[in-house]
Amino acid sequence: MGEFELIRRFFSRQSADPSVVLGVGDDCAVLQPPDGQQLVVSIDTLVEGTHFLPATKPDLIARRLLGAAVSDLAAMGAQPAWLTLALTLPTADSDWLSAFSEALFDACQQWGLSLVGGDTTRGHLALSAQVHGFVPAGQALLRRGARPGDLVLVSGTLGDSRAGLETLLKQQSVDNDVAELQQRFYAPSPRLELGQTLRGFATSCIDISDGLLADLGHILQASQCGAEINCDRLPLSASLQNCFDAETCRNWALSGGEDFELCFTLPEQLLGQLPEGLDITPIGRITAETGIKLLEQGNPISLTCTGYDHFSVSKDSL
Ligand code: ADP
Ligand code: MG
Repeated sequence: MGEFELIRRFFSRQSADPSVVLGVGDDCAVLQPPDGQQLVVSIDTLVEGTHFLPATKPDLIARRLLGAAVSDLAAMGAQPAWLTLALTLPTADSDWLSAFSEALFDACQQWGLSLVGGDTTRGHLALSAQVHGFVPAGQALLRRGARPGDLVLVSGTLGDSRAGLETLLKQQSVDNDVAELQQRFYAPSPRLELGQTLRGFATSCIDISDGLLADLGHILQASQCGAEINCDRLPLSASLQNCFDAETCRNWALSGGEDFELCFTLPEQLLGQLPEGLDITPIGRITAETGIKLLEQGNPISLTCTGYDHFSVSKDSL
């Protein structure tokens, strides 16, 4: 199978989205953003052996690639629109490509993305997804607006993805809890709806890809302030707590990567104005003093989670 047949067979589905004037097949796609919307753009790359274990199933790779990319759109409060895909493949394996592209198009449909172009080359397995989304002009959620006194909140539960990776590395036997944790690792659920709901409310927002402390640190640096975090308030799943001891759970909630939840700041008086039923938890407050202060039962703690290094197993540190 040649390059062009590969593209035609696996990646050339026409989009019904009116913003796609011309999709896959020409030198460029021709795209028309709706009036009054700004385009937000982000690219994510996965490299076999660095971001996922060799022999990971292609459908899981597709889902994880898009989940991570779409999570950046969620963090901006954007609505997904277009995808371009750069694939570097060691071989043109029809079974692999078929499973990969089915899962890719399923995820595209779920999150409202149209695949409009890409590039296909031969080499060590690596995949880049560039996602494009729309946000009403001037309303994108940024990292730089947090102010002293704002609440710090997170969505969902933290630490699960890091725990899922651990169970994979240790080849732990798979019960319901372990399956749940591995699902969090392989199949991130970007918080798109929450991100869009937070437009006009949140003063800053980021998605948690490198771990809460690292990503909250980006908000604090951009906003030139600090934060106090109550570790007792960190939202932990039952599956995580069933499988690991309390200190490990806390450390992974603070610094395990790839949960793809949102961390955001909000003036306290706006909390009651958010719609009911959002899966969000206040975990602390923004301070004028810089740095992150961790509290447990009101007492400052210093973190000694040096027992692992998530960069060395699941991520590159670039
Ligand atoms: P060019 O050589 O002009 O850059 P290519 O031969 O690389 O174009 O690609 C031909 C067409 O197929 C282009 O429209 C490109 O966007 C699309 N394409 C290539 N690889 C992929 C892919 N993996 N997924 C989606 N579209 C792709
Ligand atoms: Mg060309």
